[in-house]
Amino acid sequence: MMPTNCRRCGKLFNKTIDTICPSCLREEEKQFDVLREYILENRTATISEVADATKVPPKRILRYIREGRLIVPEGMNFELNCKQCDAIIYEGNYCGPCTNKMVQNLSGAYGGTTPTKAKSEPKSAPASEGKKGPKGYHTTDSGKKK
Ligand SMILES: [Zn+2]
Ligand SMILES: [Zn+2]
Repeated sequence: MMPTNCRRCGKLFNKTIDTICPSCLREEEKQFDVLREYILENRTATISEVADATKVPPKRILRYIREGRLIVPEGMNFELNCKQCDAIIYEGNYCGPCTNKMVQNLSGAYGGTTPTKAKSEPKSAPASEGKKGPKGYHTTDSGKKK
């Protein structure tokens, strides 16, 4: 058995199939119960509202769903899709790459004063080679004696 650090609290424990220690596992089980109950009682909540209320991060909620542990009642839509590329996202309307693209497009649209890289000469200052140390200095052999 290989002791490993708990992914959640950092404590050393003997690794099982989980990557978190037994006490964290219990904690997550508790959170999971809260989560399941909350979802059953708040069927119109969005994933970020649920995450807020249950203290379970959206990513973990989605993992539970993917693993089939958490059954989301019909009518509840936790998995959001990017409006641009249909990638699964956790909040908002667009995925990270698409958001970045849009930000770039936006900043390009405003005024269009993006400086083109005309003066981008590579800064290749001639390296001072052959000047590794003061020559003539008598360096003693390091691995000689302790
Ligand atoms: Zn732990
Ligand atoms: Zn996208």
